[in-house]
This record gives sequence, structure tokens and C-alpha cells, in this order.
Amino acid sequence: MGKLVIFSAPSGSGKTTIVRELLKRFNCFEFSISATSRQPRGQEQNGVDYYFLSNEEFKERVARDEFVEWEEVYQGTCYGTLKSEMERIWAKGNIILFDVDVMGGINLKHIFGDNACSVFIMPPSVEELERRLRGRGTDAEEVIQKRIAKAEFELSKASEFDHVVVNDKLEEAVDKVAEIITRFIK
Ligand code: ADP
Ligand code: 5GP
Repeated sequence: MGKLVIFSAPSGSGKTTIVRELLKRFNCFEFSISATSRQPRGQEQNGVDYYFLSNEEFKERVARDEFVEWEEVYQGTCYGTLKSEMERIWAKGNIILFDVDVMGGINLKHIFGDNACSVFIMPPSVEELERRLRGRGTDAEEVIQKRIAKAEFELSKASEFDHVVVNDKLEEAVDKVAEIITRFIK
């Protein structure tokens, strides 16, 4: 079994931004592309940002036990990690980077134990989280409200992660995370 690094955070905390920076600094990592039943937004591409599945296809693949883990992260919208995706990355000798919701992160850590390093990306405050979600300009107001409503529960789970990093100044957060994963790789 290979290694994996898991990032979780309330949506809007900046974990996608941080993961992108890390992929520039390390060449042993490969991003795990999740499957989702939501529609692509902005410039998102199938097989690059997500494997976009219909609700029916997602359910069929759950029934065929093709997922390592999956969650209905938001009502009516499922996200999950396909077993085939992990095998694809480990077969190349790479370490898998995960960007999953908080419960998905906790589940993956339980499944993979010491082979996994789990990092919780904490926003400086809920107000700043809301500002970032609005500033990103990718989600409808109703979606933003759902994400903020979920943030409090998610923040209460931070202590279940191996590491908690506050994403206030982006560069400092990236440096901190880089230090954590350098130690984990060694
Ligand atoms: P997530 O993947 O956690 O949902 P994103 O990476 O999409 O979050 O970031 C949400 C928004 O916040 C984006 O517009 C991003 O550019 C911005 N952002 C990320 N990190 C910071 C930071 N440290 N300070 C200010 N804005 C940030
Ligand atoms: P978004 O719609 O902003 O891309 O993602 C919404 C949420 O789904 C984020 O919290 C993201 O981390 C989570 N997510 C993405 N992929 C997976 C996955 O494979 N499993 C789980 N459990 N959550 C995921």
C-alpha cells in the first residue's frame, strides 16, 4: 500500500488553492480526482477536476462497491473516491493527495491509519470564510448559505485530524503544510 495525504476544510477555506501550490513544489504527489454528482462549474473539466457522474451512475457505482468512501456532502449532491483512482496513482509510485469533506477525511484516516497524514485547513473566521466564498464568485447565494451553515459542524471536527493549519496568509499556510508533509514523506 502507498501513502496518502488528506486535506479537509469547510468549503471556502482555501484548501484547493493550497493543494495547487503544493503540487507545484512536490513532484511525488498526484491529486486524487473524486467523482461527483454535481454539475461542472466555471472552467471545470471531466477527468481533470472531477469525474462528473449523473445521480443514477453515481448510485450504480456505489452499489457495485467501486468507492473507497463516499458522502452526500450536500443534500442531493454526492462526492466520493473511486478505488480505481487510488490504484491508478499508486501504480505510478506516487503519493495521493486528497481534497475531501471533513467526514470523508476522517473516514480515510481510519481506513489507512499510519499510511495517511490528515490535515485540516482552518479559515481565520467564519466571516472570512463567507467573504472568500462570495469573492470566489462561483456559487449561487443558496449554495453559499448551505456551505456556511455546514461550516460550524465541520470546524468542530478539526481536532480529529493529525494537523490543523490556519489559512490566514496563504504563503505561510502553504509553507506550514509543506513542512508537515516533508516530515511525513521521510
Ligand atoms: P476550498 O477549496 O477550501 O473551497 P478555495 O481554494 O476555492 O477553497 O478558496 C476559496 C476562495 O478564497 C478563492 O477565491 C481563493 O482564491 C481565496 N483564498 C484562498 N486562500 C486565501 C487566503 N489565504 N487569503 C485570502 N483569500 C484566499
Ligand atoms: P466542491 O463542490 O466545492 O468542489 O466540493 C464540495 C465538498 O466536497 C468539498 O468539501 C470537498 O472537499 C468535498 N469532496 C470532494 N471530493 C470528495 C470525495 O471524494 N469524498 C468526500 N467525502 N468529499 C469530497
